[in-house]
Amino acid sequence: MALADVLTPALDLVFPPRCPLCGEGTAAQIGLCGACWGQLVIPGDPSCGRCGRPFGSGVHLSDGAVCAPCLAHPPRHDGIAAATLYNDTSRKLVLALKHGRRIALTGMMARLMATKLAQIDEEWLIVPVPLHRWRLWRRGYNQAALLAADIAKLRGARLVVDGLVRRKATPTLGGLGSKARTRVLSGAIAIHPRRGESIKGKRVVLVDDVLTSGATSNACVSALKRAGAEKVVIACFARVLHEALDVM
Ligand SMILES: [Zn+2]
Ligand SMILES: [Zn+2]
Repeated sequence: MALADVLTPALDLVFPPRCPLCGEGTAAQIGLCGACWGQLVIPGDPSCGRCGRPFGSGVHLSDGAVCAPCLAHPPRHDGIAAATLYNDTSRKLVLALKHGRRIALTGMMARLMATKLAQIDEEWLIVPVPLHRWRLWRRGYNQAALLAADIAKLRGARLVVDGLVRRKATPTLGGLGSKARTRVLSGAIAIHPRRGESIKGKRVVLVDDVLTSGATSNACVSALKRAGAEKVVIACFARVLHEALDVM
């Protein structure tokens, strides 16, 4: 009998499994209750051939159709893999991970993200969106790095946790328009001086918890491409579809 089998029932008696979002009892120690699962929105098809933005059901489009934002500004990335669309439930999960120190949630969130990354194998590098060291020091961990580590394990890919670095602390971007965000971020994100060689010619998954305006991820994608990355796919847990909605 494995140690975990011996321990789990006793643990369940002491801490009956509860849904981390609403406190309802659940069947397992890690996982949401049925009602909260039902609130998560998984983006489906048909979707934009460039960024995966869902067009909504009932829309009939040819393969490779591109959404209006991608037509207006062709993205530098090579696709967005979003586990869920940003709503009240995914927001609560992200906030619990970010501020509530619910590190146990990462496993479940990373599994949802990994299912959207079927094409990733051991040839790919997994790089998290970096946190400035002051913020890292205050929070104690980078939630994007936790997700990246789990995704790398699940897909058998190589984690390069410090592939990107923040050279300067940037204010929270919430409330800033897209031009202001780009200005604030210019020069803020760079390739780690010792990681440039390992990124050249590689395919990279850039990992973040939430994808909002894309200003931060765009700065990361640009830095990775300048370093010679062949492809950069963005993976996020929750994707905000209305760029005007400033959330965090
Ligand atoms: Zn629940
Ligand atoms: Zn698009």
